Amino acid sequence: MAVPARKVSKTRGATRRAHLALSAKAVTKCPNCGEVIKAHRVCKNCGTYKNKQVIEEVEKLEEVKPEKKESTKETKKVKKEKTEIKEKVKKEKSKKEEK
Ligand SMILES: [Zn+2]
Repeated sequence: MAVPARKVSKTRGATRRAHLALSAKAVTKCPNCGEVIKAHRVCKNCGTYKNKQVIEEVEKLEEVKPEKKESTKETKKVKKEKTEIKEKVKKEKSKKEEK
């Protein structure tokens, strides 16, 4: 049942919140690469669990994916710009030749 805030004493509220504290996560170091990782979890840095390779080529996947997306967008833009520049140059050349 909802109780108005002013009807709950400071002590009662504080007592209720005494159990809301966050506990520190269980953290260990990766035996393979020394990276700080969560306990009983696969290392995201090198992709190993209990010194066994579970995920292959984690570094490559993480490195390549964002670059590809950015690069494709950039290359499309760059290609458009290049084609525009080429067309301009062609027009200028044709004008010069006419003169
Ligand atoms: Zn590792």
